[in-house]
Amino acid sequence: MAAAFTDSLPILMYHRIATDGPPGLKQWRVSPEIFDTQMSALHRAGYQTITLLEWADALIEQRPVQGKRVLLTFDDGYSDFLSAAIPALQRYDFSATMFLVAERIGQTALWDASYGDCAPLLSWDEIKSLQTMGIEFGAHSCIHQKMTQMGSAELAEDTRKTRAILEEGLGVAVPTLAYPYGDQNESVRRVVGEAGTKVAVTTEPGISELGDDLLRLPRIEITDDHTPERLISTLIPAR
Ligand SMILES: [Zn+2]
Repeated sequence: MAAAFTDSLPILMYHRIATDGPPGLKQWRVSPEIFDTQMSALHRAGYQTITLLEWADALIEQRPVQGKRVLLTFDDGYSDFLSAAIPALQRYDFSATMFLVAERIGQTALWDASYGDCAPLLSWDEIKSLQTMGIEFGAHSCIHQKMTQMGSAELAEDTRKTRAILEEGLGVAVPTLAYPYGDQNESVRRVVGEAGTKVAVTTEPGISELGDDLLRLPRIEITDDHTPERLISTLIPAR
């Protein structure tokens, strides 16, 4: 079969892979069983994964990527990723990118306290073991604050500190970022870029394409309502 090339990339956004949790956060939980059907559907449809840094290189070089590709992203660094997402990812040889809240690693998602019990977050030992499995890690701020509400100096410091903590723990460069709550604007993008961020994902809906602003990549939010058919249909660019 001739290798196909693509100049667009669906970037899927997940949070928790879990069944239980506060009712108000249901939108950001996909059950392990449904997650499994979604990964199986991607595999059957011929998709392979790509990392965010690989896509960043393609964007910089304006170079299409080989094959049918999808990027799986997971925000916040929840512990359930290890037990509930990894088995399905390994079954299909899929990679993923996780965005970590640097000063909350090994703790709980305190920023969700108003909804009820806060979900546990991955520890450094767990993160390092995921790193050996090929999981890519990116920044998601120090404590999950909205970036448009920070002053420029504060945001620059938060971005540098987050990256320093993650790079120290992981032993690799961490030039990738997801904006907490998807909250960003032109000034935020400029400050995080000047503070060393090479590529960043938003929550603006859409499929990423060559030519995109590297600090403003759109994502597709995946929920429990994405049946295999609906999931696959959302990955096709409208042209
Ligand atoms: Zn988040």
